[in-house]
Amino acid sequence: MSSYAPLLAALVALLAGLTIGKAWERYKLKDGGWIDRRRARESPHYILGLNFLVANQIDLAIEELSKAASLDGDALEVHMILGNLYREKGQVGKAITLHQTLLQRPNLSKLEHANVLLCLGLDYKRGGFVDRALEAFNEVLRLDTTNEYALLNLQKLHEEQHQWTEAYDTRHRLSKLADIEARPQSHAILAFLENEIGLEAVRRKEYADAIRRFEAAIDLDARAVPAYLNLGDVRVMQGNEREAAAVWDRLIEIAPDRAYLAFDRLEALAIRTGNPDRFTKLCRRLIDENAQDWRARLALSRHLAASGHPREALDLLFAALVQNPHALSIHQAIWRALGQLHHPAALVDRYGELTQHAVFYLDPHVCMRCRYRSTELLWQCPHCHDWNTFVEERIAPAQDPTEVEV
Ligand SMILES: [Zn+2]
Repeated sequence: MSSYAPLLAALVALLAGLTIGKAWERYKLKDGGWIDRRRARESPHYILGLNFLVANQIDLAIEELSKAASLDGDALEVHMILGNLYREKGQVGKAITLHQTLLQRPNLSKLEHANVLLCLGLDYKRGGFVDRALEAFNEVLRLDTTNEYALLNLQKLHEEQHQWTEAYDTRHRLSKLADIEARPQSHAILAFLENEIGLEAVRRKEYADAIRRFEAAIDLDARAVPAYLNLGDVRVMQGNEREAAAVWDRLIEIAPDRAYLAFDRLEALAIRTGNPDRFTKLCRRLIDENAQDWRARLALSRHLAASGHPREALDLLFAALVQNPHALSIHQAIWRALGQLHHPAALVDRYGELTQHAVFYLDPHVCMRCRYRSTELLWQCPHCHDWNTFVEERIAPAQDPTEVEV
């Protein structure tokens, strides 16, 4: 047995060494006393705080994380999260003070500095201190040039201020950082921003510049619908109606589901140029190509009713109603057409039959978190699994009551 003693002693020493080593990792000397480095993150308060955070119970999360933070004044991320929670609660002043205090720490690494500054920028943004928020996000980007979150917030701030060129430049930087598969989405956003820059040029009456911008938007994203509409408008302002019609025709080819946005423009153009058939032919073609196109039927019916053909208009409207019984604009057009015809009993009955079985509120409840729709009021969302997130969606009036002609 005694021959094992040295071996056993060595083994015990090794185990003791390992244990002490492990313990050594955990503790360090600070201000003459030993402190537990893992204390904040290993405390049950930290885990509980995170659990409450996941459950969206912010008050309880703040309570637990405050306890965890008080155990260890050094734990940067716990303090940072706590500040962010204050901001989420709307206690912006408290969040700003906390994050500013963290920035004063002498030993922050460059990345830690950038992260705290990002939190501070979000505090400023939430508090409405736009200039300070812009400054903070720009400073983050000086420390960390590829910080996508800072870029995104900077873009949003510039958008809110209608600083479209700056928003475009920021999105352009983000776009270069995006993965290949995320690029089309990023280009679509760039196209919207390019379109806004074009609209500014229109307001300055710099039409050549505006045209360049709208065309660039379409190059970025072929489905940039507003750019087509605006490009055509500029062509009309320049007196080039043929070119305007060509642009809007292109929009209809590329995005037939959005064709209706050009209907008013194309109808006015067709009437102005003495060629109203051009518009009726377009509507008929769209209906032929897509039997469900209720908007083309509605547009054509309005055109027919205005040109003294309410009976034909009504047939189209009844067909449109079958496709979309919810559209208030169809019902209003039907009432107008029935009025023009002095309410013939047979047609009024037909309208009654068509609407009798229509479920007008087919799915009025919508989840505020994920937009999942439901016919009934649900207490838990089957899509995002959140509780009590459904609200009843109401149909807004089609026009501001003050704008209605008497
Ligand atoms: Zn949901």
